[in-house]
Amino acid sequence: MGKIADNVNSIEISGIRKFYNKLANYPDAISLTLGQPDFSVPKKIKEAMIAAINENKTEYTSNAGIIELRREICSYLQGFGIGYEPEEVCLTVGGSEGLMDVFMAFINPGDKVLIPTPAYPAYESCVKLIGGKVVNYELNGDFSINFGALEKVIAEEKPKLMVVSYPSNPTGAVLSKADSEKLRDIIRGNDIIVISDEIYSSLCFDEEYHSIAGYDEIKEKVVLVSGFSKMFSMTGLRLGFVCAVKQYMDSIIKVHQYNVSCAPSIVQWGAYTGLRECMGDVESMKEEFARRRDYLYGQLRDMGFDVNMPMGAFYMFPSIRKFGMGSDEFCERLLKEEGVAIVPGSAFGPGGEGYIRISYAYSMPQLEECAGRLRNFVENYKQKGSSK
Ligand code: PMP
Repeated sequence: MGKIADNVNSIEISGIRKFYNKLANYPDAISLTLGQPDFSVPKKIKEAMIAAINENKTEYTSNAGIIELRREICSYLQGFGIGYEPEEVCLTVGGSEGLMDVFMAFINPGDKVLIPTPAYPAYESCVKLIGGKVVNYELNGDFSINFGALEKVIAEEKPKLMVVSYPSNPTGAVLSKADSEKLRDIIRGNDIIVISDEIYSSLCFDEEYHSIAGYDEIKEKVVLVSGFSKMFSMTGLRLGFVCAVKQYMDSIIKVHQYNVSCAPSIVQWGAYTGLRECMGDVESMKEEFARRRDYLYGQLRDMGFDVNMPMGAFYMFPSIRKFGMGSDEFCERLLKEEGVAIVPGSAFGPGGEGYIRISYAYSMPQLEECAGRLRNFVENYKQKGSSK
C-alpha cells in the first residue's frame, strides 16, 4: 500500500460490487443487486451501430462528440424545458466519465462538496480521489431534500459544489416541481455550483420529470450529467453526456480530452438513431418497469415492510429497522438462508443504514421467485425472532 496514492487508499471498491461478488459462493442464489436493465438494446440502435461499422465511422470523433448527436440531445432536452446549445454538450464514456470530468474540472484539494446521503457511491469516491472533502446533506423520510438542513449546511460549510441526484439511485425518489423551485431559490441565493445527475430521467413514472437545469436564471450555476445506459438499456456500450455553459464546458472538455479523447464513435451513431427513432421503445420499457414496481411494492407491503413508493429509476429502498439487525447482517443472512442477493443500504453512505436496495431491473419470474424467498425469510424471522 506504501506506494499507492493516499487519495486512492482513502476509497473502497463499491459496496454494490462487493455484494455482487459474494454471489460466486452461492451458485443457486438469485441477484437483484445490479442497476442493469434486462432489455435488449432497441433494434434500430443495433442496426445503426452495425451500419456505422460498415461505413467505417470508426475514427476519433471531435472531443465533444458528433454534432448530429449533440443537436439531437439539445432538442430532446428542450422537450423538458431544458435549454442547451450543441457547444454546451459533451459526449462522455458513460455518465461515470462525465461525473469524474466535472469533479476534476471544479475541485481543488480540500474543496467541499455536498453529497446527499443515501446516494450513489461514485460521488463520494470521485470527490475523494481528487482530494475534495465530502460533506453529507440529509434527506427527509421520503428521500426528498430536507431544505432546512440544506440551508444550514450550506451556511456552515460553504461548499463549492453540491450534487443533486433525482430520480434517485438507491431510493427511487424524484424531484417534485415545488422542490425544484425551492432548490432553485437556494442556488440563486448562494455561491454554489450544482452537479445534477439525471441519468434516470427517462424513468419518471407518475410525475413529470423536473430538472434543476431547466431554470435559465441559474444556468451558469448548474452542470447536468446524464447518459444512455438506462434510457436505451445499453450499460455496456458506455455513452453519457455532460451539459454546461460554455465557460465551464471548455474546462470540462480539457479533462475529457486527456481522459478519453472522445466517446466511442459507433455508439454515438447508435444513440443518434435512438433519440430520433426509439423513444417508443423507451416508453415500453418504462411501462414494464412500472408494472414490476407495482408488483414488488405490493409484495413488500404485504410482507410488512415500511417502504416508499418509488417514483422513478428502478430501485426500491425499504426500511429493515423493525428486524433489529443492520443492513449488512440482513443481506448476509438473506443470501445464506434464502439465496437472494440484494444490496445493504450501508453501501450508499450513513443515511442508507437501516435500509436495503432491491433492483427491479430484472424479469418478472425472477422478481416473483425472489419475493417468495424474501417472504420465507420474513416469516422465519417472525417465528424465531432475531435469534440466529
Ligand atoms: N449515476 C447514477 C445515479 C447511476 O446509478 C449510474 C449507474 N449505475 C451512473 C450515474 C453511471 O452510469 P453510466 O456510467 O453507465 O452512464
